[in-house]
Formats: sequence, structure tokens, C-alpha cells
Amino acid sequence: MSEPIVSDLEFRALRAFSRALGEDPLRTQAAGGNTSLKRDGLLWIKASGAWLAHAEQRDILVPVRLGALLAALATNDPRAETGVSFVEEARNEARLRPSIETSVHATLPQPVVAHIHCVETIALAVRADGEAQVAKRLAALADVEWIYVPYCKPGLTLSKAIAERSTPRINVVVLANHGLVVTGASVAETADRLERVCRAFASPARSSPPADLPRLALALEGSDYRLPADAAAHAVALDPANLALARGSLYPDHVIFLGPGIVVAPDIAAGAATRPVGGRDGPPPMIVLPALGVAMHRSATSAADAMARCLADVVARIPVGAEIVRLTSAQEYELTNWEAEKYRQALDAKAASHTKPTAL
Ligand SMILES: [Zn+2]
Repeated sequence: MSEPIVSDLEFRALRAFSRALGEDPLRTQAAGGNTSLKRDGLLWIKASGAWLAHAEQRDILVPVRLGALLAALATNDPRAETGVSFVEEARNEARLRPSIETSVHATLPQPVVAHIHCVETIALAVRADGEAQVAKRLAALADVEWIYVPYCKPGLTLSKAIAERSTPRINVVVLANHGLVVTGASVAETADRLERVCRAFASPARSSPPADLPRLALALEGSDYRLPADAAAHAVALDPANLALARGSLYPDHVIFLGPGIVVAPDIAAGAATRPVGGRDGPPPMIVLPALGVAMHRSATSAADAMARCLADVVARIPVGAEIVRLTSAQEYELTNWEAEKYRQALDAKAASHTKPTAL
């Protein structure tokens, strides 16, 4: 990353804030979420496929010419979709590609924007009464001006939906079936606001019995499946209420990294057989074995493991009986057949080929 931006105190604060967000699995998972800082006509935005958790150890921020990107957005220039044409290449030594959500960050006028896949937010934003829940919980936060945006495909479509509803005063955007965006005049202000909003959204997590790991290991023996990186993932299988809530696809990164919906089967062979051998989609990355636990395919990446845990964290926070809105099959399809996302998946697979999945 080029001088003088690395020594800019606000830029350093953004990197520390990004890392803290990325290291908390309740705030964001794997390469999900993104942060940005507008500085001297440039939008410094997290790179596609990069992990917020790595913000202080490597280059994860890409400089994008903000004026040119905003002009492209205003004229429906197709180059606004990825933003790659507006990268300030002279200051992009790591040759990074900007996040899929770059247009969302550009659209919001505040200097600092943080977008996270906060588990507490998602647990409310998948509910049919999500907007009413948000209204109730944010009522006491005097500085928060919020909007609730119905689900749409991340990226350009989402940025347009936000722009249609937003005003310059808006500093919190709740994205149905997706996550949270918080903005501020500074990193400190944004971090403080984000903390208070996430606290207001918090719900008690239903506890599940622990998995019988020796029994589960026996069920996986001789198969291409292994235990998940984080034992918390088993909660989807161990509580019937969790399992009922987890069926279908609740938010985009689930679809991107685990495929549409969940595969529920009485044993590994039956789960694996739900996708034909040699088929286009490959084996299911995750199989849920009711009352036993969750199994991950040996090819599953650390992002898939992070999403397995995320699902357990989300459903445990949804009250039994709450009406849920799931992604439609058309919405699943548009996520799995999206060039920009294929890039992020490819990066993830590349990273997985030389790093073992780690617990988050
Ligand atoms: Zn997102």
C-alpha cells in the first residue's frame, strides 16, 4: 500500500477496526463484510475475496476514484458493477480488485462505511417482522437515522435500492436477508455507532446439547466428510427448532459458500447422493445429520466452515414460531451464476489450497 496513506491515522484506525470486525465471528465471517474510507477523492475499499480479519497484516484496501465511479453510477455505466475500471492502479501495488459492494460504499456520502454480516442483525432481518423489530430496538438510539432495505442482489442492484431510500442523514442501513451497514464521520464514530446498534439487535441464543463427537466421527469414518472446524456449527443439527429455521437459504454468503439451502440426510451416503457424482455442483459442502451433527466435505474451504458456524449462530437467535422470509430459487440462482462472485469463490479456493481451514 502506498505512502502517505499508510501513515494516515484515520486509515490506520480503519485497518484496526476492520481487523476487529473480521476477528469476531458474530460480526462477520470469512471474506464477508467490507469497510471503506473516503480520502482525497479516493474510496479506499476492502478488496474482493480479502478477509477483514487480515486488515493489519496485509494489503486489503483498494483505492477507487470516487468521482469517476459516482459518475458511472449516475449514468448507468455498466463499468460501475465491479468498479475495476476506476481503480487507481498506480497506488494498487497488490493488484487487488474492489469488493462487490464498492458501489454501496460510494453511494453513501459519509467518510467511513462499514458493512458487516452481523449475526444479530441477520437473525432479525430474515424475519417477516424484521423492520418492526429494528424500529423497536433502535428507538432509544437518538443519533441513529436508519432505513430498512428489502432484499436484493448484493452489488449494483443493492446500491441503487439504498440510493432510492437514503438521505444524507441516514447512518444505519439494515439489509433484509443480508446484514448491516453503518456510516460515520470518522472511524471512531462509526465503530461506536456500530457497537450500539449491534447491542440493540442482540437476542438470546437458544442453547443446544453438545454433539456426541465419537458417535459422529464413527458416522464419518471412511467417507469424504470431516468434522466442522468449529463445534458450534453442530447446533443446526442438534435442535429441531434450529433445523426447521435453517432450511432453505437465508442470506447470500450461505448460498455462495455452502450452495443453495442445506442438505439434511439420515447418513453421509444419503446426503452425498443428493448431488450426482461428477455433477456440475460437486458434492454437498455440508451435510446436516439430524440429532447427530454437521459434517463438512474434505474439499470445503475455511469460508464454508465459517458459514456453517454462522448458520448455527443465526438460527439459534430466532425465536421459535417467528415467520421467516427465505431467498427464492431465482434469488439463489442469480447468486450462484454471478461472475463477480465466481471471482471471490476462486480466490477462496486458491487460499484453501495452501492453508488448512482454521477455527474462527
Ligand atoms: Zn454483504
